[in-house]
Amino acid sequence: MHELSIAYGVLEQIEGLAQQHGAKRVEEVELEIGVLAQVFPESLQAAFEMVVEGGLAHGAKLTTVIKNARVHCLACDHQFESDGTNFACPACRKARTEVTGGDEILLISVTFAEEDEK
Ligand SMILES: [Zn+2]
Repeated sequence: MHELSIAYGVLEQIEGLAQQHGAKRVEEVELEIGVLAQVFPESLQAAFEMVVEGGLAHGAKLTTVIKNARVHCLACDHQFESDGTNFACPACRKARTEVTGGDEILLISVTFAEEDEK
């Protein structure tokens, strides 16, 4: 399952950040998912809940933002975004285009819980 390995990767990043900040608990995690990454937010949500179980991100809220693909037109050099279904250039209407990004999974933000007891 693709989403499970992504969730583990995200958890690793979160744990690294938590260590840097001396945080004990994670409240919210925001992820940006490229439209071409072929990730189902629901599956990722389920996988995330599974991998954080019992750890510092246990119960953390996962927010996912779908990001459009980036496309470069080889005919007119125009750069544009695509929702992943249409890759024709909006400027010159040719379909001689190359995808330059859109399958990444990026950790945008992590919110750590305030330390309420010492
Ligand atoms: Zn073009």
